[in-house]
Amino acid sequence: MGCTVFTIANQKGGVGKTTTAVNLAAALAERKIHTLVVDLDPQANATSALGVEKQEGKSLYGPLHGEGSAFEMLTPTAWPHLALIPSEQDLAAIEIELAQQQNYLMRLRSVLEPLRNSGGYRAIIIDCPPALGMLSMNSLAAADHLLIALQCEYMALEGLGQILKVVERLKQAGVNPTLDVGGIVMTMFDSRINLAKQVVEEVRQHLPDKIFQTLIPRTVRLSEAPSFGKPIFAYDANSPGAKAYRDLAKEVAERFNLKEATV
Ligand code: ADP
Ligand code: MG
Repeated sequence: MGCTVFTIANQKGGVGKTTTAVNLAAALAERKIHTLVVDLDPQANATSALGVEKQEGKSLYGPLHGEGSAFEMLTPTAWPHLALIPSEQDLAAIEIELAQQQNYLMRLRSVLEPLRNSGGYRAIIIDCPPALGMLSMNSLAAADHLLIALQCEYMALEGLGQILKVVERLKQAGVNPTLDVGGIVMTMFDSRINLAKQVVEEVRQHLPDKIFQTLIPRTVRLSEAPSFGKPIFAYDANSPGAKAYRDLAKEVAERFNLKEATV
């Protein structure tokens, strides 16, 4: 059985990438789909949101330099079927250092290859920093599908256009010819705000096959959970945010044919 690699990348911060990476991963794990979160943001928000303490030397920094393997960085979480490769601030140096090496865009792909082929995971979800730098580009080179977190706000479509252009360029340049825009997750949706509804409508019209039906509501519970080091399901299992990420996981599992592991 295969392993599908997703990256949640885009050039903006604060749009719900990490919240989506962590809670989508946790919801897939709840469905018994073995899932690995790869924290590729030096700020390590996904690491702390999963209750794992940052630790010097525990990140992909070494493996991306050819020192050690990604296996050595695997860290369990408190939840079944959910593992993490953590991050810490050292990873920030990669932005400069990788650019001086050969095949610098393909580094992450090679580092993740053995994990992907290990049979241990059905899904790998990469959480990216809020810029399309070296780390995010590496994730786009390594992924099967890009998931775009899009905040329901003014200028959302411009941001979407930019990331779609980057995907096209990477495909044409042969960096990742099969990279697919897997879906668009509309985040921080507030049904009382007309603009939010308009943005969703516009994205639906432009990219009807890409937008997920599930809209992630803006709720304070989703923003509180990370400070307790928990996904929303361990913090407030019956909240609207928890329901939304469960619905999203169902859509993702169906769209990409992710099945629960039998071993
Ligand atoms: P990114 O990773 O794109 O920078 P985050 O997921 O960290 O974005 O979200 C940015 C901020 O917004 C965080 O404080 C987070 O807790 C909060 N947030 C994210 N999604 C929601 C939501 N649906 N409702 C309320 N707050 C949210
Ligand atoms: Mg983030």
